Amino acid sequence: MDQPKIIVAVRKRPLSKKESKEGQKDIVEVQGNTVVVREPRVKVDLTKFIEEFNFNFDAAFDQQYTNEDLYQQLVKPMVQAALNGTKITCFAYGQTGSGKTYTMLGDQNVVGIYTLAAYDLFQLISNSLVMSVSFYEIYCSKLFDLLNDRVQLVAREDAKGQVNIAGLSETKVHSVQEFQKTVEMGIKSRVTGQNSVNQDSSRSHAILQINLRQQNKMIGKLSFIDLAGSERGADVVEYHKQTRIDGAEINKSLLALKECIRALDLNKNHTPFRGSKLTQVLKDSFTGNCRTLMIGTISPCHKDAEHSLNTLRYADRVK
Ligand code: ADP
Ligand code: MG
Repeated sequence: MDQPKIIVAVRKRPLSKKESKEGQKDIVEVQGNTVVVREPRVKVDLTKFIEEFNFNFDAAFDQQYTNEDLYQQLVKPMVQAALNGTKITCFAYGQTGSGKTYTMLGDQNVVGIYTLAAYDLFQLISNSLVMSVSFYEIYCSKLFDLLNDRVQLVAREDAKGQVNIAGLSETKVHSVQEFQKTVEMGIKSRVTGQNSVNQDSSRSHAILQINLRQQNKMIGKLSFIDLAGSERGADVVEYHKQTRIDGAEINKSLLALKECIRALDLNKNHTPFRGSKLTQVLKDSFTGNCRTLMIGTISPCHKDAEHSLNTLRYADRVK
């Protein structure tokens, strides 16, 4: 059966040890593909009540599901489609601390979607295909190459309407080990390189691109995007000026992204990809034969209820 063009999934992470110790309540329940949030509230007259919110998605993952589970169900079919020339894009969207990087990259104990996809690609591709990796970051509408000393890059649209990032480096990889080493290099450069003053990874979008070429002709392209923390767009309480500018930029790009995916879903002729740098550089991924997966990651905690609800609403409206 044909897979839908756009898939929206939500993943709930477990309470951390620290959150359990603090007595944080788990207010999120996953029932099949439905996510239920039960938020304890207090009325003006001090009576307590519970407000319940329900959301339906193409898939929902409770805390016991692993990166491998999510990969097998949602990403693997896309990886297979990529070998037939479908452009694949996978986003992780959510509040800082909700599990975006855990899902994409993994942590010291488990691998994430990047590596699981690379592993399968190496199993599936023939010797004539060459695999290469590009890894860059969008911070305050500027592009930085994570595999080349954080050199600043410029995206240009040519006469045919194709958007190219001039000078973006590509590293050829011949094994999963080489792939992982390259990704690690990029991750290091994300937080420690020059130009990263005033910045932490929650304020930038990280775009990992896997290219498959046969005799220099692009055969497949897979993009994995660890988005900036969605709460950044909503930050109003921070007084630091730089933070407010970041917040406005992030908000703009996340809204533009939603509009582009919606346009794709409705098969609109016009996709508003010019709405932000993020959507502009992803133009190619929103055109022609393409498929998108949006993974909304949420915290189970009572204290994060507002941010989790915002993520669920966002994911709900993407499609
Ligand atoms: P984000 O990238 O959204 O800011 P992280 O991926 O860094 O969030 O996750 C925050 C913390 O929660 C990390 O310590 C991470 O290991 C842990 N974590 C996130 N998701 C899961 C999960 N599904 N299972 C176990 N631990 C998780
Ligand atoms: Mg992260």
